[in-house]
Amino acid sequence: MKKNLYIVRCGEVALKGMNKPYFERILLERVKKALESCEDAEVKWVDGLMFVRVPVSVSEDEVIEKCVRVFGVASVSPAVQASKDMDEIGRLAANYMNDVLKSEDIRTFKIKAKRADKTFPVESPEIARQVGGMVLKGCKVLSVDVHRPDVTLNVDVRKEAAYIFRDKVKGFGGLPLGTNGKGMILMSGGIDSPVAAFMMAKRGMSIEAVHFHSYPYTSQRAQEKVEDLVRLLTGYMGTVKMHVINLLPIQEEIVKNCPEDETTLLVRRFMMRIAEKIAEKSGCMMLITGENLGQVASQTAEALVVTDSVVDMPVMRPLIAMDKVDIMDKAREIGTYDISIQPYEDCCTVFLPKHPVTKPKIARIEKSESVLDVDALVKSAVESDKIVVIQP
Ligand code: ATP
Ligand code: MG
Repeated sequence: MKKNLYIVRCGEVALKGMNKPYFERILLERVKKALESCEDAEVKWVDGLMFVRVPVSVSEDEVIEKCVRVFGVASVSPAVQASKDMDEIGRLAANYMNDVLKSEDIRTFKIKAKRADKTFPVESPEIARQVGGMVLKGCKVLSVDVHRPDVTLNVDVRKEAAYIFRDKVKGFGGLPLGTNGKGMILMSGGIDSPVAAFMMAKRGMSIEAVHFHSYPYTSQRAQEKVEDLVRLLTGYMGTVKMHVINLLPIQEEIVKNCPEDETTLLVRRFMMRIAEKIAEKSGCMMLITGENLGQVASQTAEALVVTDSVVDMPVMRPLIAMDKVDIMDKAREIGTYDISIQPYEDCCTVFLPKHPVTKPKIARIEKSESVLDVDALVKSAVESDKIVVIQP
């Protein structure tokens, strides 16, 4: 069966020392899984590069799209393999450029040669010169421009063969999913938490989610929006188990018994407690939120301390020091933005105080909370957990 070749480069995985074989094995599995719908795809490591061969019937765009979404992949290049023979390399390079000419209006090119196999008798500058000459002969409309070429064609002479390839399509980098424990993301329908989940998964962390709603104050559609967001994220992090919890009974208790200006903060403390309990049960090591220093009243330094103090589990806040515009750009890049901006209510906005405290004191918050049966409220919320399994 005729197959197209792709070279996949790993970023940080290559920097690993003793653990490199472990990371490489998992990355290989992840790329294989990403290509599982492409029948007869072959994936293997050869000397620090991953070679992917996929039947020609699968489009180049599809293969690239699937590979660049795998965390740990730094870049992907469609490539052609040649034997280590200058004539063959030159001929295939010319064919390659003729193919490019069929669909693109280009006039200039440059050859960039690399000789990883130092026993190959022709040195890199000479490889570039000779292959360039053969391309010029085979593609009469092209000329060489070493400074600003329309296309740079790489020739990589390695131990087992030579490879000819052009653009590298950038991946997200990071580390392969599943190499860094499991975390529980507190997932709202907003812009921030999906980006936070993405960023932790990019560092290799498996993700489970918890979403709080206040049905019937929040609608069924609001929950579906969150499911849509998570479904989009599964394209990066595979199947996600999401715990769905109705927070309304707790919110009503708070509204009835506690100072109005502390409502949001008190609700957030309950969210953290419940999330921690569920995380413990599910084998998660950390909580993850989309909080961002100073963004809203509940995210001032003082408020974060008050929120943090109710849990023992480490709380990861990967967006803490980012600017909102950068978070929004990231959301656009990963594709969550358009879903996030759909106007559905969130449980946090249901009982929003007019003037929320921005510099809360733990002692005062604890006093307000002391009229509530915190343990019982948390317990019954945890027991009401409904699990939705969201698949790619
Ligand atoms: P986001 O854009 O993620 O909604 P935000 O800027 O709107 O964040 P808040 O509403 O204060 O900020 O929420 C802060 C964080 O608390 C969120 O990033 C998320 O991790 C968590 N959170 C908020 N609402 C919910 C919810 N309904 N279910 C689960 N987690 C939530
Ligand atoms: Mg929000």
